[in-house]
Amino acid sequence: MTAMALEHCDLLIVGAGPAGMAAAVAAAPSGASIAVIDDNPAPGGQIWRDGPGASLPVAARTWRDALERHSNIRVCSGTRVVAAPARNELLLEDAERGWRMQWNKLILCTGARELLLPFPGWTLPGVTGAGGLQALIKAGLPVEGERIVIAGSGPLLLAAAATVRAAGAKVVRVAEQASFAAVAGFAASLLRWPGKAIQAVTLADGQYRTSSRIVSAHGGAQVESVRLLQGDREVEIACERVACGFGLTPNTQLGRMLGCALATADGGAQALAVDALQATSLPGIYAAGECTGFGGSERALVQGTIAGHAAVGNERAAKPHEAERARWNAFAARLHRSFALGPAIRQMPQPGTLVCRCEDVPFSALADCSGWTDAKLHRRCGMGACQGRVCGDAAQFLFGWTPPAPRPPLSPARIATLAGLADHEDVDRQ
Ligand SMILES: Cc1cc2nc3c(=O)[nH]c(=O)nc-3n(C[C@H](O)[C@H](O)[C@H](O)COP(=O)(O)OP(=O)(O)OC[C@H]3O[C@@H](n4cnc5c(N)ncnc54)[C@H](O)[C@@H]3O)c2cc1C
Repeated sequence: MTAMALEHCDLLIVGAGPAGMAAAVAAAPSGASIAVIDDNPAPGGQIWRDGPGASLPVAARTWRDALERHSNIRVCSGTRVVAAPARNELLLEDAERGWRMQWNKLILCTGARELLLPFPGWTLPGVTGAGGLQALIKAGLPVEGERIVIAGSGPLLLAAAATVRAAGAKVVRVAEQASFAAVAGFAASLLRWPGKAIQAVTLADGQYRTSSRIVSAHGGAQVESVRLLQGDREVEIACERVACGFGLTPNTQLGRMLGCALATADGGAQALAVDALQATSLPGIYAAGECTGFGGSERALVQGTIAGHAAVGNERAAKPHEAERARWNAFAARLHRSFALGPAIRQMPQPGTLVCRCEDVPFSALADCSGWTDAKLHRRCGMGACQGRVCGDAAQFLFGWTPPAPRPPLSPARIATLAGLADHEDVDRQ
């Protein structure tokens, strides 16, 4: 067997979304060798996801250009983390090879993922996450002429509606669970963040309804209609797709696998704990962006900038960005308060509604479990292909269960990549 390549960089950044891009650009003038890895085919993260159906905004191109201008930044797209085989080292894999990457400093910019929650009919083809539908459209999914219902909570519903409209589909309803008072209060507060106010106006949709939540999706081979509770009135709307967004969950898996401490972020989610310099509880490891709590791309950018400066020892350059971070932290707090999920959302699943789609585990089978491990061992919840990525978050929301820290491999890996570690004697773990 050929020995696995061992590479080295001064600063390794995991995630090339706004936070990771800003971190790399801030750190670059130090002359440090920087590697940025991301499992997507191009830098940009969730908000600036590229593809045949995407049109990148100017900000995305500006940040990409900035990455390219620095010869000491190496971007490895289509690359994911498999394991952490030794201290200050990650096992990586791309389409061609697996390799070990040693680092002196590490910045985790792993972003967030959608919170998918179960309701009757959520397993029907045509039902996706709201961000998931955006991603599919940007990747080239044709939706022209389709009728689409978007339901859940938060401004991402309107962002998804804009993507849907731009792709030639018809948004037949945007159902927001928050009340009119909560949404109006949020809109009024945007005067403090004028850029966001302008964005909100451009995203406004005539089909937007508050105090509305999904009851069930219906159809045969594909979703054909959706039932919504609008106030105290139930309505049925014919559609070809339903896109649901119940907020975001910080991607903490890699940080947790490494042993980074968690903290409760705004909105109650468990996120990577960081100090004023974006340093985690482990020496040499920083975190920025939505893995430290959901708060939008502006917050991710400024956190990334601070982390990038701090990781190369330039704390003085990080300092002036603290006020801007505080401004966006206040925005995040307002956002979470306004769009907090109401108790009715916990009542969406019926006894027969599948919570774990991989292993067909219904809600009723979980109701008397004592926790995540009990549900996993005795009901097979989280034992399937997604390894609890979807049902783990749902169970946390529905029952308050915290899944344990993930074990390697962090993502599915080729056997050759794992076998390449066999000749690797250094097992000094963090
Ligand atoms: C599905 C989805 C859609 C969204 N759409 C919008 C939108 O339209 N408008 C908007 O304003 N906000 C949107 N957001 C919110 C948006 O994510 C943030 O505001 C912003 O992108 C956060 O930046 P970030 O750098 O923290 O994380 P992200 O942009 O999420 O970037 C994190 C990156 O890390 C990569 N990554 C994570 N773990 C690993 C790993 N182990 N190995 C390799 N790579 C890894 C991910 O692939 C991703 O590219 C969306 C969020 C989600 C989850």
